[in-house]
Amino acid sequence: MSLEHIYQTILMDHYQNPRNAGTISNATCSLHEHNPLCGDEITISMKLEGDRISKVAFDGKGCAISIASASMMTEQLQGKSVNDAKQLIDTFLSIMRGEKEFADHPEFEDAMALEGVKKLHARIKCATLSWNTAKKLLSES
Ligand code: ZN
Repeated sequence: MSLEHIYQTILMDHYQNPRNAGTISNATCSLHEHNPLCGDEITISMKLEGDRISKVAFDGKGCAISIASASMMTEQLQGKSVNDAKQLIDTFLSIMRGEKEFADHPEFEDAMALEGVKKLHARIKCATLSWNTAKKLLSES
């Protein structure tokens, strides 16, 4: 199996079985954003306990890349401190801009499957929508 095929499989798995999909009943903050280029919509909600993200969920509709990316992001942010989460998001956004490489950041796990999206310029906004929304949410809270 080629690496590209493995990435495709991970991506489709997150799209078809999204992790942390839905809303949190006792969320402390949430934010809705959309990507007009593709029509993707996303709402990220979080339950913050002190300095920690104890719960994060997303509710979205859109293309496979936007949903899979949101699913991967929620998995990565769950349980992290706000500062660690912000740093992780910034690193992810730098990678998608081509300034950093997934190869140097093994902490990304499944999100590495978005590597191929970097080549599809029109789809980068699909992949970064949920991460940008979470970033905004964390900077506001
Ligand atoms: Zn999209």
